[in-house]
Amino acid sequence: MAAASALRAGSRAPFWRASRSDCVSRLHTLYQTVELPDTHQMLRQTCRDFAEKELIPIAARLDKEHRFPEIQVKKMGQLGLLAIDVPEKYEGAGLDYLAYSIAVEEISRGCASTGVIMSVNNSLYLGPLLAFASEEQKQQWIKPFCRGDKIGCFALSEPGNGSDAGAASTVAKQDGSDWILNGTKAWITNAWEASAAVVFATTDKSVKHKGISAFLVPMPTPGLSLGKKEDKLGIRASSTSNLIFEDCRIPKDNLLRELGLGFKIAMQTLDSGRIGIASQALGIAQAALDCAVDYAEKRHAFGSPISSLQAIQFKLADMSLALESARLLTWKAAMLKDNKKPYTKEAAMAKLAASEAATAISHQAIQILGGMGYVTEMPAERHYRDARITEIYEGTSEIQRLVIANQLLKEYRS
Ligand SMILES: Cc1cc2nc3c(=O)[nH]c(=O)nc-3n(C[C@H](O)[C@H](O)[C@H](O)COP(=O)(O)OP(=O)(O)OC[C@H]3O[C@@H](n4cnc5c(N)ncnc54)[C@H](O)[C@@H]3O)c2cc1C
Repeated sequence: MAAASALRAGSRAPFWRASRSDCVSRLHTLYQTVELPDTHQMLRQTCRDFAEKELIPIAARLDKEHRFPEIQVKKMGQLGLLAIDVPEKYEGAGLDYLAYSIAVEEISRGCASTGVIMSVNNSLYLGPLLAFASEEQKQQWIKPFCRGDKIGCFALSEPGNGSDAGAASTVAKQDGSDWILNGTKAWITNAWEASAAVVFATTDKSVKHKGISAFLVPMPTPGLSLGKKEDKLGIRASSTSNLIFEDCRIPKDNLLRELGLGFKIAMQTLDSGRIGIASQALGIAQAALDCAVDYAEKRHAFGSPISSLQAIQFKLADMSLALESARLLTWKAAMLKDNKKPYTKEAAMAKLAASEAATAISHQAIQILGGMGYVTEMPAERHYRDARITEIYEGTSEIQRLVIANQLLKEYRS
């Protein structure tokens, strides 16, 4: 494998030269043995090394200064990490979703903000383009977004509706050979750094979600302005902002696929995106667990390390169990997608399990660190703050439970 030898030789050459079929053909054995194929192991090591060297040393500072990791994101682009499942012909890494999950976990273990920046570009921006764009659109809107020169964002939520995405009130009206957009999109990750957005707007309110379409909007562009940067609890190195459209004119050809398909594009995109957020949550949870184990081994109380206390051991056991279970669910959802099987329910399960595990594990990590868990000198408090958003974006935990129950009942009734 070219990628393997390049990595062994210590080259900065991309690791993804292994063929896609090579990866996919080995996946069916993976779930039985839970042993990653060579390509995925190499990718994991590459991302782990990158996180150790480039992210962990600066994550606390980025968080404190609310600073976008510009240099690191560029380097990740050069490594192929911003377009993992994009075919090589569009300058992507040509790998699969399991690879994507593994990479997001490792990067998020180093810095959860960088994890979401990467996840939004991979699954929320490039994902719908890969699945729904014309060949001409792919050349224009995918290629420059794979190598870190440009990144994208995804604008579905609005101030008046998040979970109820079908109630979009941003409108698109045709005017000669243009579309004119009006309205406000809320909470948009990467808004301040993005060079393009996939924007959902309604062309016919009377048919509710069936009137929503997806549009490709270059950034900056006249008629589109940014709101203030939100001052967030966690993932503070990623920007989150409103996109405000005031008679924003874009060419007619910037419609993605066809009129009225927007809601379907959004829901399908979020199915995949949830695997990314589950993976981000796994990374945060792993970082919190690592921090807790390390501290428990070093901290002494009553004459011995606190790791020898059963109360601490039980916490570590429960944390490890929650993490490992969520990881298996996440890998399962990714593999179903890779094997072109339905995965809506499994992606929702993965996101729900991983995000709730991340919150619980980071909570317990603080407990194990005691007072040191509560101060910024140690990373535990940051993991706790970063974990919380994974239960909210790309569908809250309540929405995941609805998706799971709906799918379950559909299966039962069919
Ligand atoms: C940091 C951050 C980054 C984000 N990034 C993006 C982005 O890049 N692009 C984008 O489009 N959006 C983004 N979002 C928006 C995010 O997806 C929404 O915040 C989320 O979907 C919830 O919507 P809401 O905030 O409007 O809450 P609401 O929908 O108002 O929900 C409020 C509460 O009611 C509950 N609820 C609502 N409906 C139901 C129901 N039917 N059954 C049970 N409970 C229900 C919810 O679970 C929640 O607990 C981001 C948000 C944040 C905070």
